[in-house]
Amino acid sequence: MALSNIVSRASLAFGLGLLAAAAGTVASAQSFPDRSITMIVPFAAGGSTDVVARIVAQKMSEDLGQQVIVQNVAGAGGNLGADNVARAEPDGYTILMGTVATHALNPLILKSTPYDAEKDFAPISLLVVVPNVLVVNPELPAKNVQELIALLKADPDKYSYASSGNGTPLHLSGELFKSMAGVDMQHIPYKGAGPALNDVIGNQVPIMFDNLPSSSSHIKAGTLRALAVTTAERAPSFPDVPTIAESGIPGYETYTWNALFAPAKTPADIVSRLNASANKALIDPAVAGRMKEFSATIVGSTPEELGAHVKAELAKWKPVVDGAHIQME
Ligand code: GLU
Repeated sequence: MALSNIVSRASLAFGLGLLAAAAGTVASAQSFPDRSITMIVPFAAGGSTDVVARIVAQKMSEDLGQQVIVQNVAGAGGNLGADNVARAEPDGYTILMGTVATHALNPLILKSTPYDAEKDFAPISLLVVVPNVLVVNPELPAKNVQELIALLKADPDKYSYASSGNGTPLHLSGELFKSMAGVDMQHIPYKGAGPALNDVIGNQVPIMFDNLPSSSSHIKAGTLRALAVTTAERAPSFPDVPTIAESGIPGYETYTWNALFAPAKTPADIVSRLNASANKALIDPAVAGRMKEFSATIVGSTPEELGAHVKAELAKWKPVVDGAHIQME
């Protein structure tokens, strides 16, 4: 999506909000926000969702004139935090930094989720799409995907991989890798990529599928070795890291996205105000620069586009999840 479109859409939405307020048709948006807003991150601190949320929340605070406070409510593959927002007062003061986990993969992979990804939320904006990456502790003697496959085949019971939790894109990445490469390794779910990363850097677990925003600095520092990215194309900020697909597993693809959601029934004018603020944050040069560092593609959508995206993602990943046999209790 072209940046100019984002700008014009954001200013259009903001303009419409102002018009409606001026006409006196909506009282709520005029005073919104008059206190701090809680942005729930459904994963632990230090993970990709947390990184993206803190960057965006800071800019939104400046724009809205009220603090947007990030709160980590981690657990159950993002379910816990998402459910908190689904049940929150629909007044715009509690919003969710959702991901492909909370809004597409949890409902497909887990036998039941406590919320309905479509009916229980008012979409605000699709913010960014981020690559995932296969990383290993540098002590693991695998320098590329084929060497990792050879290692796993030679000793099928020996290795395990860390992820941000059951029902997340990192869990999907690992299980899809196992099924397409014909290898085995044990899945160790954490409450987010932050704590998972600690254990991989400490070599308690040798392998991890992570989101690039959280692994990026560790790859650059050499505390993690990146074997491949999970996207169809290489990540522009890591041009030397191949894709898994080009490393001998053609057709392999996963990615993550982050999007803001409010509880269903949040008034449209408040959603509009939050949408304008989030989209404005994305075009800030400092924010755009940070996103570029870890190859996050900035989108910035209308609420309707995010609603359509969730529907499309649920349809897209269903056959992949079914094919990799990863449904869980
Ligand atoms: N992998 C998770 C997701 O994209 C996020 C991990 C994290 O932020 O800790 O849904």
